[in-house]
Amino acid sequence: MNNIKKVTDMGICTGCGSCVGCEHIKFKNNELGFPAPIVDENCKNCGECLKKCIYWDAENN
Ligand code: SF4
Ligand code: SF4
Repeated sequence: MNNIKKVTDMGICTGCGSCVGCEHIKFKNNELGFPAPIVDENCKNCGECLKKCIYWDAENN
C-alpha cells in the first residue's frame, strides 16, 4: 500500500482535502462527521496522493 490510507490508518488525517484529484479517492464523512478520503480497490499505488499530504510529509521527512 502506497497511498493515503497510510495517513488515515495512522489517525493523522485532518480531512484537509489536499489529496483530491485522483479518480480513486472519494471523500466520505467518518464516524465523527468529518470528511475523510477513502481509496478504492483500483488504486495503482503510485504514491502521488501521499506527496500532496503535508501531514504525511511532516511525519516522514
Ligand atoms: S491530504 Fe492528507 S490530511 Fe489532507 S485529506 Fe488527504 S490524507 Fe487527509
Ligand atoms: S492511484 Fe495514486 S494518487 Fe490515486 S489513490 Fe492510488 S496512490 Fe493515490
